[in-house]
Amino acid sequence: NPNKTFEYRIMPYGEEHLLLIARDITRISQLEAMRKDFVANVSHELRTPLTVITGYLEFLPVDSQENPMMAKAFNEMTAQTQRMQNLIEDLLVLSRIEASSERIYEHVVDMPVMLQQLEREAQALNKDKGHTITFHVTDGLKVYGVETELRSACSNLVFNAVHYTPPGGVIDVYWQQTAEGVRFCVADNGEGISQAHLARLTERFYRVDKARSRKTGGSGLGLSIVKHVLSHHNSQLEISSVVNQGSQFAFVLNRELLAAS
Ligand code: ADP
Repeated sequence: NPNKTFEYRIMPYGEEHLLLIARDITRISQLEAMRKDFVANVSHELRTPLTVITGYLEFLPVDSQENPMMAKAFNEMTAQTQRMQNLIEDLLVLSRIEASSERIYEHVVDMPVMLQQLEREAQALNKDKGHTITFHVTDGLKVYGVETELRSACSNLVFNAVHYTPPGGVIDVYWQQTAEGVRFCVADNGEGISQAHLARLTERFYRVDKARSRKTGGSGLGLSIVKHVLSHHNSQLEISSVVNQGSQFAFVLNRELLAAS
């Protein structure tokens, strides 16, 4: 039946037989598709009013000398609308990736060039943090993939390291060939994450310390985006971390995704 969706499992049955189990997951898939659509539509609809509010906020003349209360309220409104904008943008990115049918073997991504740009952005973000950020990138190491998605995954991991490392930290970013393929890794000597939290970190809106993470302006969707991007590229996120010593976030793109340079 073309209108039905099934999930199949094959199991051994006795010495000589195999058992094929088909589960009808039509309803579950439909509900899942509805949920994704709903999130995408709501995010899209919220974008316009928010753009209008941000636009007017920029033009509001507030004299902080004359009216400090008003200035304080104005700053808070600006910060919160920015937060809401980040959240909506991330929800849209996530919806797009979930719905993406873009084939990964059709485009070559010049990762070293992309990482150069990311390094500049990380250094800009680093202005008031004073970390030592070093990129160790092997020249010419290009891969097949979706550029916007890979950029989003790498920048989320790098910006998190900048945010969650106390000032004056050390952050190293690697893009290097290994036996299995190419490995991207971000290592920081920041606050680290306890084992209890590691398994749930890539869930939507999951945060170790909600109040503090919010102050970073993040949406709580960053690692969820990374997880989806990697699954689209047949990879997965590897996290290792020690509290108060630092964390490593890494992924390997399979050798098959290596593009000749
Ligand atoms: P956000 O940063 O917007 O809160 P993320 O999904 O990117 O959301 O990250 C989820 C949580 O994982 C963060 O709130 C933070 O608690 C933790 N985290 C992510 N990266 C690091 C890191 N490099 N060091 C310590 N904690 C981290």
